[in-house]
Amino acid sequence: MENIISVANVGKTYARGGQSVEVLRNINLEIAEGDFVALMGPSGSGKTTLLNLLGGLDEPTAGDILFKGERVSSMTAGQLADWRSRHIGFVFQFYNLMPTLTALKNVELPLLLSNLKAEQRRKSAQIALHLVGLETRANHKPSELSGGQQQRVAIARAIASDPDILICDEPTGDLDRSAAEEVMALLASLNREHGKTIVMVTHDPKAAQHARRIINLDKGTLAVTQEKPVLAGEDPRRFAAEAHA
Ligand code: ADP
Ligand code: MG
Repeated sequence: MENIISVANVGKTYARGGQSVEVLRNINLEIAEGDFVALMGPSGSGKTTLLNLLGGLDEPTAGDILFKGERVSSMTAGQLADWRSRHIGFVFQFYNLMPTLTALKNVELPLLLSNLKAEQRRKSAQIALHLVGLETRANHKPSELSGGQQQRVAIARAIASDPDILICDEPTGDLDRSAAEEVMALLASLNREHGKTIVMVTHDPKAAQHARRIINLDKGTLAVTQEKPVLAGEDPRRFAAEAHA
């Protein structure tokens, strides 16, 4: 399948109080359309840094990041913000929902950056809430929802604009086992039935088992790549076609 992201010889060095800290060194990674990558590694190994580079939230200090062949690193800040809003959905460990807004309004929020009219924004948000199984909670505020439900609202917010890639930073890190399993089952179904490409950082080996590939980051480099066997006929596009048939 076509590569959606290519990371070529990427390095990231932070300048900190006159000292420079090399966090990533000569990273090379290809992510194909429909892939589901779990990125693991010790705390402080640069996992969040790498996700931020993939999602265009930060720039590499060496090398290139290509999105469908287009150089993300050479865009202006304005172009980058527009690009992110069209192509990337972010999911964070602590959900980052607005406490004063209902689930529906939270999901609608990033759509304010699009040219959609109010009615279309509401429709898209309702469809996204339906996909995560929370259409009946549309008018609940985050404080009226469990942690697992809040994370599913955050996932609805991430998919509402129909992005190509979901970037998830420890999406189950704050959840108990059963809520974590629900969130992972949802991410796996977005990957397998809706063709979403997913890159997820996790510390949880059980969560990582939902991915198609497990990649380990250690001491600035991608140390081990464990390819999970792709099940026979497990083509996300075929699954997507079946789902909509
Ligand atoms: P992980 O997500 O794997 O725990 P991070 O990517 O958050 O690791 O951080 C990797 C290293 O980079 C850490 O040593 C951290 O202190 C450092 N770091 C992260 N962000 C910054 C920053 N904005 N400025 C300086 N150092 C940073
Ligand atoms: Mg991190």
